[in-house]
Amino acid sequence: MPRDIQSLALPGVQRLRPYQPGKPVDELERELGIEHAVKMASNENPLGPGQAAREAMAAATGGIEFYPDGNGFSLKKVLAKRHGVDAACLTLGNGSNDILELVARAFAGPGCEVVYAQHAFAVYPIVTLAVGATGVEVSARDWGHDLDAMLAAVNDRTRLVFIANPNNPTGTVLGAEELRTFVAAVPEHVIVVIDQAYFEYARGADYADCIGWLERFDRLLVTRTFSKAHGLAGLRVGYGVSSPQMADLLNRVRQPFNVNSIALAAAAAAAEDDAHVRASVELNDRGMAQLTAEFERLGLAYIPSAGNFVCVEVGGDAMAVYQALLHRGVIVRPIDVYGMPGHLRVTVGRERDNARFIEALQAAMNGDRDED
Ligand SMILES: *Cc1c(COP(=O)(O)O)cnc(C)c1O
Repeated sequence: MPRDIQSLALPGVQRLRPYQPGKPVDELERELGIEHAVKMASNENPLGPGQAAREAMAAATGGIEFYPDGNGFSLKKVLAKRHGVDAACLTLGNGSNDILELVARAFAGPGCEVVYAQHAFAVYPIVTLAVGATGVEVSARDWGHDLDAMLAAVNDRTRLVFIANPNNPTGTVLGAEELRTFVAAVPEHVIVVIDQAYFEYARGADYADCIGWLERFDRLLVTRTFSKAHGLAGLRVGYGVSSPQMADLLNRVRQPFNVNSIALAAAAAAAEDDAHVRASVELNDRGMAQLTAEFERLGLAYIPSAGNFVCVEVGGDAMAVYQALLHRGVIVRPIDVYGMPGHLRVTVGRERDNARFIEALQAAMNGDRDED
């Protein structure tokens, strides 16, 4: 008799808990037979992509019978210029998620340890276990990364450290000085990944771009994405910036055509569309102020966030509140899998969506029955 297929998988894969995505609008509408649900669950940009990216996507469908440019020449050219780096420092990914996987495949494996924080992005443990490495989760401090404790967790077996700045789901942010001190203190056999998926939202005097540090630190990898502020989550395109030596290694394990031609074209246009990013960030600032003012009015604790989302404490049974919100057509994100069973994470939306969420939240927390 063949053995149970479970037992045939790699030990890390057997232990892996699959990533739980936010619920798609279509799925909720289908399940509940409702219309006009709103998704505030996956930190997507409520404005969607800008006009330039939309036009580039439409144009790129002509020629779709050809494989994409496997080296992403045009997109890399735009990014290299914007970041003031050589194109050889760039690795393009099918979402920045792809880059996180590439770095784990290139540098970690059985017998290696990978350090990340409690309440950090769920993809870090997934890529770690998938390559057979051991994850070391370091307790958070004030919901964010405790860099002293993370440094103390680094040992001879450590190959990678993942840091999300700002962090998802908590929205916490590390200052430039403490982060640079950490990067400088990490021993030479360790790669540090600074995941800046929410870079555009996190500006501020004390927020580091980190790309300028690459000249000093050739074991540093900075990741960025077009999924959030650029509104292209569905296309799947992101990138890593590193030393050319590291980029060469990442590119060796990359699928030859990992980024599709529509994504390459749209990202090149989106990267230069500063006006759209500015509009998206301004909408987010207003929406964040709206949501946090409402939380304060309602006496709900929240974690101040530098991203386009915020975690609010809804009491013991966040799952029940999540379900009640679904019944009112509002999809947010339960984060019990992040060790935060009393919080919900909500993505900042347009003014009317934020208002609808707040109204639904109040009703859900009061245990009101659905009106219909
Ligand atoms: C959304 C997110 C990503 C980006 O995912 P993509 O694969 O680029 O869509 C990466 N890191 C964090 C922390 C995120 O929240």
